[in-house]
Amino acid sequence: MGKKDEPGWKQERKRNRQLKESVSGFSDSTGSTFAVEKQKARDLRNSSWWKKKISEGKCYYCGKNFHPSELTMDHKIPLARGGKSERINLVAACKECNNKKKYLLPVEWEEYLENIKKSD
Ligand SMILES: [Zn+2]
Repeated sequence: MGKKDEPGWKQERKRNRQLKESVSGFSDSTGSTFAVEKQKARDLRNSSWWKKKISEGKCYYCGKNFHPSELTMDHKIPLARGGKSERINLVAACKECNNKKKYLLPVEWEEYLENIKKSD
């Protein structure tokens, strides 16, 4: 007995914990969609489709030639923006382009691509 009337601070703590759980539960559900897409990307990275793609040794963005080991898998539309791990959304990118895409603002990235096209 006595378990039912817990002191106020204890109840408060319980409430906070529940609150935290519901918040992290939310991020888990979005996180798991990501996990599925990331797993799909991993599977595709092992596929002959991808191996053939990188064996061409060409970066999708700058069009320069690279050793297959230097090419990374890039989501044209990032997962964070609703892109999917589908062949149509996956391209081979060199490390430089991949980094630029990550750190540049979308507008700056567009400019970068424009400059590449011009220099060709
Ligand atoms: Zn490149």
